[in-house]
Amino acid sequence: MNEMNVILLGAPGAGKGTQAAVLCKEFSVPHISTGDMFRQAVQAQTPLGLSAKSFMERGELVPDEVTVGIVAERLAADDTARGFLLDGFPRTLPQAGALDDVLGQLRKGLTAVLNIEVPEEELIRRLTGRQVCKVCGATYHRLFHPSSQGEACGLCGGALYQRVDDSEATVRSRLLVYSRQTTPLIEHYRQRGLLKNIDGLLPIDVVTERLRELLRVRHDRTEIRP
Ligand code: ADP
Ligand code: ADP
Ligand code: ZN
Repeated sequence: MNEMNVILLGAPGAGKGTQAAVLCKEFSVPHISTGDMFRQAVQAQTPLGLSAKSFMERGELVPDEVTVGIVAERLAADDTARGFLLDGFPRTLPQAGALDDVLGQLRKGLTAVLNIEVPEEELIRRLTGRQVCKVCGATYHRLFHPSSQGEACGLCGGALYQRVDDSEATVRSRLLVYSRQTTPLIEHYRQRGLLKNIDGLLPIDVVTERLRELLRVRHDRTEIRP
């Protein structure tokens, strides 16, 4: 059985979480979102949550040692046997290096890095209008992807909320952090021949279709290897 070990790259608001939700279900691989893991820890007031909270509220990155630790532990779980989709990790070159070490120890490798490209003005519109379900975590947008039930989740009926870090001021710092700390990863993975770019301005279902095609091609190709 070949694995589908994928990184979803892209700025905050590019659509990583939205796409991951569909693809992970379809390909039966776990959706590993460091942002979701940190938000759950903050909610549960665990030591991890307490240390991550102030960084998240300021729109800064949680320190690499902390982040790498939770991902290493998560990737070692049995459910990654057929693959995984990383969303929001790695976000720095040291994180990318640490990921290689962790995967090496687990005797795994990366299949593809899918980079969703969206211009900055659109990212601001997306993040400031984003709504998330308190219960199941589904993501909506007031204008671009409204819930069929208004202010309640179309999937589970849970209440929708706006993330504290989706205010315009914090969004601007997050985009700056992205361009300084995360964009070097694009070149890093291009050089390794793993990068695939996708136009993230396309409608949600069209982006899904493009990603699906790229994953199928990669998947088939790894399958025929000895
Ligand atoms: P990320 O996980 O990359 O931060 P999300 O998946 O949370 O991004 O998407 C950010 C916002 O943009 C959400 O409100 C989502 O509904 C909306 N969105 C996602 N993809 C698209 C798209 N292709 N077109 C328009 N809006 C989108
Ligand atoms: P988005 O995709 O909308 O930027 P995420 O949900 O991925 O947001 O992340 C929310 C916050 O969690 C980030 O602003 C950061 O503080 C923290 N975080 C998530 N992933 C990482 C990571 N890989 N490294 C450091 N901090 C992270
Ligand atoms: Zn819901």
